[in-house]
Amino acid sequence: MDNRRYCRKCLMQDMGGQEQFFADLKAYIEAIAPEDRTPEASYAERLQRCRECDYLEQGMCRACGCYVELRAARRTQHCSYNHW
Ligand code: SF4
Repeated sequence: MDNRRYCRKCLMQDMGGQEQFFADLKAYIEAIAPEDRTPEASYAERLQRCRECDYLEQGMCRACGCYVELRAARRTQHCSYNHW
């Protein structure tokens, strides 16, 4: 049994012990066509806003149920609460 505890403010990339899941998530993000992908600086800014948001819980947004790293990676997506 995995007894590690994670801060609810963690992104998936900040949590250990879920390497395969994060590898799959990362591969999915990298497969997004460049023209559809959020530019790197904007992506980092979006994720920082998620880190500071009360709705973030273990990589998921409790407002919309998405994995924020995936949602933020698509240029046309937006935060349900207009944080980005
Ligand atoms: S997508 Fe928006 S509401 Fe959800 S965790 Fe990120 S900033 Fe918060």
